[in-house]
Amino acid sequence: MTEIAASQYAIELIYLIASALFILSLKWMSSPSTARHGILAGEIGMVLAIGGTLLHHGIVDYKWIAVGLVLGSGIGVPLGMVQMTAVPQRTALSHAFGALCVTLVGTAEFYLGTQSGSKFGMSVLSMEVILGGLTFTGSLMAAGKLQEILPQRPITYKGQNFVNFILFGCAVGSAVYLVLHPEAKFLFPIIVGISVIFGVLLIIPIGGADMPTVISLLNSYAGLSAAAMGFVLDNKLLIIAGALDGSSGFILSVIMSKAMNRSFTNVLFGAFGQVQPSAAAGAEAKPVKSATPEEAAAILSAANKVVIVPGYGMAVAQAQHKVRELYDALTKKGVDVRFAIHPVAGRMPGHMNVLLAEADIPYDRLIEMDEINGDFPQTDVALVIGANDVTNPAARTDQSSPIFGMPILDVDKAHTVMVIKRSMNPGFAGIDNPLYYLDNTLMLFGDAKQFVGAIVRELTGGH
Ligand code: NDP
Repeated sequence: MTEIAASQYAIELIYLIASALFILSLKWMSSPSTARHGILAGEIGMVLAIGGTLLHHGIVDYKWIAVGLVLGSGIGVPLGMVQMTAVPQRTALSHAFGALCVTLVGTAEFYLGTQSGSKFGMSVLSMEVILGGLTFTGSLMAAGKLQEILPQRPITYKGQNFVNFILFGCAVGSAVYLVLHPEAKFLFPIIVGISVIFGVLLIIPIGGADMPTVISLLNSYAGLSAAAMGFVLDNKLLIIAGALDGSSGFILSVIMSKAMNRSFTNVLFGAFGQVQPSAAAGAEAKPVKSATPEEAAAILSAANKVVIVPGYGMAVAQAQHKVRELYDALTKKGVDVRFAIHPVAGRMPGHMNVLLAEADIPYDRLIEMDEINGDFPQTDVALVIGANDVTNPAARTDQSSPIFGMPILDVDKAHTVMVIKRSMNPGFAGIDNPLYYLDNTLMLFGDAKQFVGAIVRELTGGH
């Protein structure tokens, strides 16, 4: 066996092991009990994938690769240290970098002419740069919206979907022409340019609340573009990893859309999340009842069954450890405390599960929405901590509500509902919540961490 053949054989073997680890990683990450193994498997798989690629006989000099590795790690490590609530935008940034890389590699391959003789090669190369280009700018826009650097509300204009459709059609049409007429090289920068502009236009009409769904869809596009790059570079690992990324991102978007009872077209083209003028105005006018931490503590102490409903506000306030103290204090008093988990509470799937697990709240106390909804009529107190849309009864009753049909946690059916939030401002869907005006609802105005801390102090006598 020649030296080149031997290194090729070693690379293929390493890639095979890395692919198996990626598949196991996804499998293990689907359950909380095996999730840590899943992360480790993914990390080892990635180290093997990078290591295997570095063995490639075509590499003549490692100097620039080393510079890239050091630079990339230097940027990546601090980027990974963000708070949990910022993970969606951080993920979007990673997609943007990945997609930029795919687009640049595709552009280099085009001008090197490696695929010019093959219709298949040119087709996948075109797919690579179209998906890569739109994912690059689309992900930057999504990250900007979530980080509130860009306006979160949908930016819409008349005929928007038509313009977007035509633009995308132009990119695909030009790509088809280029495949059939490879001499029309001038079309390539036009295809890349349209894709990059399309990415921006695709995202601006989508509201901030839909961004996590969009990000997982962009994740899917990034995966598909990487798979296309795998065909261009004849790299099986890229094809496998890209396909895994593409399909898992797509499945996740479907799960999220289902949990919100929304169709894909509605998420992408529905301009969801515009402020409802009636909601914002109405919120000021109607009276609500509020209570102090002392009153809340007294009501909780007198209860037998309490269900805590965490939401985005608990995550922002980083109140999970105080919530754990509240759980301990109430459990000590003999109160049965459980947590109701809505599939899209917070800003990413599993957001509440991860936060509560971080605070060591026993996993068997976390009950999924379908399972716990039937128990609310027998619940003494539903304590909502920084959740809003996922408890909005308008989703059940008001056909004109933008969230009509979304399954919600039926907290309004509990004997008493207490809601911790700072103001009467709406949640991410931008709509008013009739829950707050019900006779059995008490508003606990304040920051989640501080308010829960104050209740705990009342319950424990300051200990
Ligand atoms: P919401 O965004 O509906 O509401 C969060 C509430 O928290 C706000 O009303 C806010 O009120 C309050 N809040 C914010 N900061 C604090 C704080 N420091 N202390 C106390 N309260 C605070 O959150 P939900 O979790 O109920 O719903 C999630 C939303 O995100 C849904 O619309 C869902 O569809 C959407 N979404 C979620 C996805 C996911 O995967 N999880 C994916 C896609 C969309 P105030 O400002 O008055 O304090």
